[in-house]
Amino acid sequence: MARRRQIYEGKAKVLFEGPEPGTIVQYFKDDATAFNNKKKGVITGKGVLNNRISEFLMIKLAEIGIPTHFVRRLNMREQLVREVEIIPLEVVIRNIAAGSLSQRYGVPEGTALPRSIIEYYYKNDELNDPLVSEEHITAFGWANTHDLDEMMGLSLRINDFLTGLFLGVGIRLIDFKLEFGRLWEGEEMRIVLADEISPDNCRLWDLKTNEKMDKDRFRRDLGGVEEAYQEVARRLGILPEGGPRDLKGPETMQ
Ligand code: UDP
Repeated sequence: MARRRQIYEGKAKVLFEGPEPGTIVQYFKDDATAFNNKKKGVITGKGVLNNRISEFLMIKLAEIGIPTHFVRRLNMREQLVREVEIIPLEVVIRNIAAGSLSQRYGVPEGTALPRSIIEYYYKNDELNDPLVSEEHITAFGWANTHDLDEMMGLSLRINDFLTGLFLGVGIRLIDFKLEFGRLWEGEEMRIVLADEISPDNCRLWDLKTNEKMDKDRFRRDLGGVEEAYQEVARRLGILPEGGPRDLKGPETMQ
């Protein structure tokens, strides 16, 4: 196969030019980072699992009418997506206090929030992804009020749906991060869900034991990281064909 042009390499994924104009191939790596790149490591099999988990969730979300960039999974580590103009915001939806919210406001981890809270962070590693308000977002032109309304509406629908889906497999959706992009179709612009949804960007706790089943196991050196990602995939019924032994996946196709 001809080598494809690499467009961008991020912390957990590499993006390549897709086979047709307006498409991109997302390659999922096993690399893991935390604390804005200060902590680095490898979670064996993570890329394969996140590719499958994100595919599964994006398809389910499309079924309830959420527009997404996802087209189809190509192989163990790659998926084809529509090319979008990424809005430089991380949209965090929280149901239960944890992580930076607990630290910032002194709310103990595990406290149920009176209602879901949406936060926006400006995507900028040099600035450490600062928390921003709608005022900052519109004043600096990262998105307008229409875009924000759209992102908030979609985020709440995604939260409702994913909360139920995970509850059904014995997992509490504590919080998660979404990214959105602008998809241009001629003169028309639509805001669509982009990036990925996986245990890299969700907090998932076992319903019975509150055990963490997400990247916090890596961030906080809790051990059992690979097993936690596998368990999420197993509960969703999507462990790769060969089971855990098959998680290294094929050689990198670049
Ligand atoms: N998150 C993410 N990428 C980031 C920051 C946060 O995917 O750069 C996710 C994280 O996995 C969690 C949620 O967003 O599910 C809220 O994270 P938080 O603000 O508590 O930050 P953290 O404690 O992870 O630094």
